[in-house]
Amino acid sequence: MLAQVKDQRTLLKGGLIVDGTGRPARSGSVLLDGRRIAALGDVPDDAGTPVDCEGKVIAPGFIDAHSHMDFFSASENPHHFDSFTAQGATTFVAGNCGFSPFGFAPETKHRGLLESSLFKAGRETLEWNSFAEYCEVLDGLGLTHNFAHLVGHGAARTSLSGFEARRLGDAEHAQMLAILDRALSEGAAGVSFGLQYKPGVFAKLEELDDVARLVKRHDKLLTVHAKAYSSFSGTYPMIPFGRPHNLKAIDDMLGLARRTGVRLQFSHLIFAGSRTWKTVDQAVELFDRAIGDGVDVCFDMFPYGCGATLLNTLLPEWFMAGMPDALHKPLARARLRLEAEVGFRLVGFGYPQIQITNASCAEYDEHNGRFLPDIAKRVGKSSFDTMLDILDKSDAEARVLFHDYYNDDIIDRLMQHPAAIFASDSWPEPGGHQNPAAYGTFPRFLRKARDRGSLSLEAAVHKMTGAAAVRFRLADRGRLEEGAAADVVVFDWNEIRDHANEAGNARPSGIEQVFINGQLVLQAGEIDLVRGAGELLLS
Ligand SMILES: [Zn+2]
Repeated sequence: MLAQVKDQRTLLKGGLIVDGTGRPARSGSVLLDGRRIAALGDVPDDAGTPVDCEGKVIAPGFIDAHSHMDFFSASENPHHFDSFTAQGATTFVAGNCGFSPFGFAPETKHRGLLESSLFKAGRETLEWNSFAEYCEVLDGLGLTHNFAHLVGHGAARTSLSGFEARRLGDAEHAQMLAILDRALSEGAAGVSFGLQYKPGVFAKLEELDDVARLVKRHDKLLTVHAKAYSSFSGTYPMIPFGRPHNLKAIDDMLGLARRTGVRLQFSHLIFAGSRTWKTVDQAVELFDRAIGDGVDVCFDMFPYGCGATLLNTLLPEWFMAGMPDALHKPLARARLRLEAEVGFRLVGFGYPQIQITNASCAEYDEHNGRFLPDIAKRVGKSSFDTMLDILDKSDAEARVLFHDYYNDDIIDRLMQHPAAIFASDSWPEPGGHQNPAAYGTFPRFLRKARDRGSLSLEAAVHKMTGAAAVRFRLADRGRLEEGAAADVVVFDWNEIRDHANEAGNARPSGIEQVFINGQLVLQAGEIDLVRGAGELLLS
């Protein structure tokens, strides 16, 4: 279902055109005709309903290259998208980190696990059995924004072996590949790995190589949430003075790309814990060397020092494999406590960096937004016991913001890297504390570019539009040119900024208008989302 555009011809008049390709800005007007851009540059004044853009930037709609908004797109409630619309996002690449709401065996015994994974807010149940059927549901509902979808390796694996900590049998392995193959054939943009989450954490490199070869055969993209993002992580064996685990995780994925030739997107390149920060140079070198050798790899990043994930990503693989029983076994708890203390010290991370955003259980929901030591004090337990109690009561679904992923210098440095693409990696947290990235990612990148001089206006816009469109092969998106889709953001380069507040839910300033396929959806701070304005982007 595609909506008719209300004002058929709109003339964005006399602004600074930043076309998303990275080319220098130029003055001019942009004419939107229906869902497409009809003309740019010198356009006659009477060509369409005028919108005065003097002193404003006219840019392509922002593309969230690493999104988790897929489950919300199947929701009846479009307001989940308000905070994204307010920051100029028009397109999402969803299905990241191994999670997708499709790509499972129809006869699965594990539908419940799939339904209760990260993103419950859209629908309670999965009422489809394939990507094509899922698309039909979205189409019937009418998308408010544009969506490209990755199919999650984690989803396919969950549907076959649940969260069992084991290799797949030969038949299961073949079935897993067949599920992913089908979704790719039906138009998914690629496959995503979530190697720090169950069940991706249990997959060995041979399994991952076979998935990479499949993606390569389809000439699509493999995105990877790697096995570790800190110098020490429970997902790798602990070897004293061994290679930092985050670098090992990068080695593993670049090795996979070298072996299979797959196009690789390294998801949210973060450096968790202040002691991991000293590995930034080495990490960047690994990417540079691979790119120099012809490996087709990029990474995405967000502009905040904190990031959202599940509390259980802190757990080592051996403990995750024993869940939930391990939570109640004194020996397992004692070993975990010791490993956590040693690990935290090595990484420069600890309980004070853990903010519970959605405890996902009645006993702790009143503490949403608080840091773990604060909650521990209030409930009269140690931070460790509180953490395990929250994991227990929430069935390991508690969500968090981890802090000290980056400092400002690291963010600047990564922003400038030619392989960096900008993304929010966020979702709204219904009933919980908000991730500021869901509110201010794109304005914050622009503010950083302007105030810290880390990038030119054109380069910053490119990394949130054209570069993402090229990477994910989103035809006609991410650039302003005749015939391209009329996804457009008008913003004030002097005013644009995020307003990261304590609650994480402040709207940015400086976004003037947002058009999705020619449909005006934001004007003067007022959001008016339209069902059918957005499109499914199939490849
Ligand atoms: Zn991730």
